[in-house]
Amino acid sequence: MVESTVGQDNIYNNGIDTAQLKEWDKEHFMHPWADVSTNRAKFGIITEGKGIYLYDDTGKKYIDGPGGMWCVNLGYGRKEIASAVSNQLLKLPYTSPWTSTTEPASILAKRISEKTPDNLNQVFFSTCGSTAIDTAIRFVHFFFNVLGRKNKKIVIAREKGYHGSTYLSASVSGKERDKRDLDTDKTLVRFLPDINPYNRPLNMGEEEWCDQKINDLETSIIETGPENVAAFIAEPILASGGVIIPPAGYHRKTLEICRKYDVLYISDEVVTGFGRLGHWFSSEEVFGIKPDIITCAKGLTSGYIPMGATIISDSLIDRLADQCKESTLFSNGFTYSGHPAAAVAALKTMDLIEDEKILEHVRQITPHFQSRLHTLGEKYEIVGDARGIGLLGCLEGNISAGLTASETLSIDYKFGELIDSACEKRGLLVRPIINMCVFSPPLIITENQIDKMFDILDDSLNEVQNNLLK
Ligand code: PLP
Repeated sequence: MVESTVGQDNIYNNGIDTAQLKEWDKEHFMHPWADVSTNRAKFGIITEGKGIYLYDDTGKKYIDGPGGMWCVNLGYGRKEIASAVSNQLLKLPYTSPWTSTTEPASILAKRISEKTPDNLNQVFFSTCGSTAIDTAIRFVHFFFNVLGRKNKKIVIAREKGYHGSTYLSASVSGKERDKRDLDTDKTLVRFLPDINPYNRPLNMGEEEWCDQKINDLETSIIETGPENVAAFIAEPILASGGVIIPPAGYHRKTLEICRKYDVLYISDEVVTGFGRLGHWFSSEEVFGIKPDIITCAKGLTSGYIPMGATIISDSLIDRLADQCKESTLFSNGFTYSGHPAAAVAALKTMDLIEDEKILEHVRQITPHFQSRLHTLGEKYEIVGDARGIGLLGCLEGNISAGLTASETLSIDYKFGELIDSACEKRGLLVRPIINMCVFSPPLIITENQIDKMFDILDDSLNEVQNNLLK
């Protein structure tokens, strides 16, 4: 059993047994992507975390392969963050951001603006990634309305992109299967086809594939009419779509097309921000672009407290200011915009990233992480593709050749489930997305821990391959 790092007064269960808790959870807690059928899952209970490890109610220890949901970048049990948040809660838990500010929120806005590309200095706080995206799109619409170009409404997005779960952010998300039974605003969005280089025709090089994708964007803008297109939204790496890494030069060329037609560029750095690729933000530092708007969340507070941010360029604000003779309100905001406790969690996260040289650490261990990942891709027949960048990785299964579409889907799910349970048995949590396993461990992971993680994955793939191909 793990030795608890927290006092008993933090534990709420009052001796209720775990079977009862699981039953209550199943009956009453509608989890994200809730299954409303009769076979609702009974979830395991995670009771504690320390470093890169999670512990369940039986005391079993797991390496947290996905880092929560790509968010617990600094790992679990960070007393520095917990006590800073606790102090802030006692000092001032809340004040209205409509009528006042707080020290942490204003310091945080300034510090974030120092980490973004030079022109992105206006920070709008929200509560998560979805609300950061919502805010970005609402701002873009507001921007063109104020400029008197009210037809500029359409957002161009990519298939397999994921941007969130509010109505607007879900509308620009391109994961078709997620939308089967939900409504989204289809008039608002144009989707461009899959960009994954792994899916390009056999005889096509990556450069030609890239040109084709750039051409898709330009054609879509021309066909829709540049006067109707407001923005292009893109994740630098399509994370939930399966860690899809666009071909070299893609981001720079998409930005050039956007500039040509006065289409604003929203870079969704909810996953890639705050160190995942070894930099504060990847738009400029990794991909060489300065977007108009960057969104972030998750790693911003290392997952300790919910918070999102939409960072808008000075140029956009200046263009508005030139236009506005009288007060013009961007009437969008949340009760908890700039919440002081969340702001303190973010400030502490930033301190720790700097003090512990986390960005340098990520850059240093990335080659080892990627090399272990790619070796597994080459070793197993059931793995079609191994890809990654920074501390992001994905293994995509390849076991459905020659099957029909519905057979493919069920075997794809089976692949994910088998890997998941083989890893879990051995003490590694992975996050299967249909036939893909994605990895985004806490950034504090060491080389030895990376080895342990991939050793478990190696054994698990071996077991699954033997089962599936026998
Ligand atoms: N954008 C990206 C790239 C994401 O991966 C996610 C969530 O996974 C979101 C936005 C939405 O963030 P949240 O779940 O915090 O609302």
